[in-house]
Amino acid sequence: MPELHEQSTDILLASLKQGDLSSRALTTACLARIEQLNPKLNAFNRVDADAALRKADSIDAKRAAGEAIGMLQGLPVGIKDNMCQSGVATTCGSHMLNNYRPPYDAHVVERLDAEDGVIVGKLNMDEFAMGSSTETSASGLTRNPWNTEHSPGGSSGGSAAAVAAGMVPLALGSDTGGSIRQPASFCGVVGMKPTYGRVSRYGLVAFASSLDQIGPLARDVHGAALLLQAIAGHDKRDTTCVESGVDDYSGLHGQSLDGLRIGIVDEHYGEGLDNEVEAAVRSGIARLESAGATVKSVNLPHAKYSVAAYYLIAPSEASSNLARYDGIHYGHRTENFDAKNDGLLDLYCRSRGEGFGAEVKRRIMLGTYALSAGYYDAYYLKALKVRRRIREDFDKAFADVDVIAGPVAPTPAFRIGEKKNDPLAMYLSDIYTISANLAGIPGISVPCGLTSAGLPIGLQMQAPAFSETSLLQAAAMAETPRDTIGTCPMS
Ligand code: GLN
Repeated sequence: MPELHEQSTDILLASLKQGDLSSRALTTACLARIEQLNPKLNAFNRVDADAALRKADSIDAKRAAGEAIGMLQGLPVGIKDNMCQSGVATTCGSHMLNNYRPPYDAHVVERLDAEDGVIVGKLNMDEFAMGSSTETSASGLTRNPWNTEHSPGGSSGGSAAAVAAGMVPLALGSDTGGSIRQPASFCGVVGMKPTYGRVSRYGLVAFASSLDQIGPLARDVHGAALLLQAIAGHDKRDTTCVESGVDDYSGLHGQSLDGLRIGIVDEHYGEGLDNEVEAAVRSGIARLESAGATVKSVNLPHAKYSVAAYYLIAPSEASSNLARYDGIHYGHRTENFDAKNDGLLDLYCRSRGEGFGAEVKRRIMLGTYALSAGYYDAYYLKALKVRRRIREDFDKAFADVDVIAGPVAPTPAFRIGEKKNDPLAMYLSDIYTISANLAGIPGISVPCGLTSAGLPIGLQMQAPAFSETSLLQAAAMAETPRDTIGTCPMS
């Protein structure tokens, strides 16, 4: 009998519903696991055990009284440290927000609470979600539970590591260019970026507003579907959040793939793709074929420009979003300021100089340059035109196939420090994930194998906008049972 931290979402939910397991017992087990492993992994920035146990007790009391319980049934959830929780420090992994305690809850936090999720704490991330390795956080780096010399990926590395190590069954991340899917792939868990507009961004600290999307990470596809179900849907406080209804994502077990058309992209299998990753991805696709799907080639001719377009558009939006952190309106204020001799500009410059780390400064400079008079047309506007082409490529491809399958990242989890001082190499690790953000479509990473060194490999699937149901259904069929990829050495 697997221990609680290895149990599937199905079994945990059934045990909670039947009253065989209390939310307090499950939450206590998660808190013990966090206490044991967090000193090694640094996945959580902060844990609020008292609040979690209070919430768990209130759910258990409702159950005992025969009252209705929300769909999360008392499952513990961790949230990335860029989602606002009233009165709880929300740092975005930055000194800039060291003392920030939001006076309100993000929409997703309200939803978790309403659906009886137990929020246990805030998860580590690259500073302001800019990164692919969770090495740039002001709270220190996070380690990959499969091999602690390796990065968990990023920027939602804390979320992926916490789920992989069994600290929580469910976690929320955010994905602007791959930050849910790439760490999910590196840590052998399921991670999904929903369609842009599927989940409200109200209360998510903005990085690049036209690309940011909140999504679930979980041990299995059912867990991801359930968590998505809990957070998806209209919210008038985010005007980009659509009004269309939400399907029943969590009820898609064991459906056959007969007739599902899967596209494979020749451009995915070029230079830079690790051999073991390619082999695992190809065998994942073969499994889909044997489950009844048909496979055909499609082309995404502009995908090769996606990294270049993204690293103009995302920094441009970031430079504008992060302008508010000036030490006066928001964020860290320098102490090194003498009102008699220094001017306002000194206060801004020192506050921002001290508050932001090197990668964030690099993005602000890139974005400010791309938006500046004289360069706007050549860089920012050009990148928007490329973005349109990338979206059109997907539209054409999805006329022939229902789902596109391929790698999540060109390599398995790289070593800590390996790419830290080479931004270009770091940016190139986002090559397969970024296009879904530029096109606004959903994408999911499911574990599909292990390297000879025992590191997980993810299979990415993408679908047309608002086709989360067919995407999750395909993912459920592609999912490799945990006993096939083995369990994370820490679980
Ligand atoms: N790695 C990408 C970046 O650094 C994506 C980050 C994200 O999705 N938040 O911009």
